[in-house]
Amino acid sequence: MKAPARRLVLHRRALGFFPTPFMPLPALSRHLGGPAIVIKRDDQTGLALGGNKTRKLEYLMGDAMARGADVVVTGGAAQSNHCRQTAAAAAACGMGCHLALGGEAPEAMNGNLLLDRLLGAELHWCGEHRKGEDIPEICRQLGERGLTPYVIPYGGSNATGTVGYAEAMRELVLQLGSEVNAITHMVFASSSGGTHAGLLLGRRMYGVAAEVVGICIDKGETGEVPLGDHILQLAGQAVDRLGLNQAFSRADLILLDEYTGGGYGVIGDAEREAISLCARLEGILLDPVYTGRAMAGLIDLIRRREFSAGDTILFWHTGGSPALFASPGDLVG
Ligand SMILES: *Cc1c(COP(=O)(O)O)cnc(C)c1O
Repeated sequence: MKAPARRLVLHRRALGFFPTPFMPLPALSRHLGGPAIVIKRDDQTGLALGGNKTRKLEYLMGDAMARGADVVVTGGAAQSNHCRQTAAAAAACGMGCHLALGGEAPEAMNGNLLLDRLLGAELHWCGEHRKGEDIPEICRQLGERGLTPYVIPYGGSNATGTVGYAEAMRELVLQLGSEVNAITHMVFASSSGGTHAGLLLGRRMYGVAAEVVGICIDKGETGEVPLGDHILQLAGQAVDRLGLNQAFSRADLILLDEYTGGGYGVIGDAEREAISLCARLEGILLDPVYTGRAMAGLIDLIRRREFSAGDTILFWHTGGSPALFASPGDLVG
């Protein structure tokens, strides 16, 4: 039987400034007395305060435009960085943006939520539905108004969005040249899976030796596909999307789930310490939900001597600092 025709054309709409900066973190390395730590600043992608979703959105918005959409619809938590970057991307592309947000309308418009409003997004408060469950109904209503909606999944994590992080690996290889071979591990926050899946694919495509180590941010909810399975599925779907011949298995996956602390968005001592150390030693702002937790995981791994002295660890800074302004009381006493 003939395989179904695949749509291999990928449209990319430029939205950010690439390559993002790369730099060493000597004071943090020294303080921890561990391996060399370097950082890839995907918090500096340039789209309305930046973050990892910009890379996914370049491909997702390219696809939306190619399909003639005039409004994008996505969802997430109230302080979602993904929603804020989607609102900015839609504005930059001259499209409308509807956001399905978890919870109820809060009294204070701050952090990412303030930016969503400034960027012109229309907000739908969805109570318990934090992961975009209400998107189909919103699309139906937009369709009735004669609009053509384009759905961007939770976290921008589908095959198209995942391609953005395979491309990020290519960018890193071009940026570092042969020095990319010195990197032994890449550590980052993993939540909706697209970043992790894209890095796994990019690692394979560009022959990068470093281990790709995701720090799980969210405990996950019952009834969902476990994150590890979801990441492998996404990597497989992105392979199909690119028309490649690659397969991924459990052996490719390193996903650490012991750092989820008090659950999604709950700031604990470990996150506070990580945010404070990076701020005071390197002048770098992490975020309370994702990168603070991922850096706390990396610090713990270093203290537990999981790395050798000769290792070089790359931390992918995936963004999120606008959320700092939403929970000042949990960050400083
Ligand atoms: C969304 C997000 C992540 C997680 O990326 P996924 O591709 O969803 O796994 C990490 N850090 C920040 C700041 C994010 O906004």
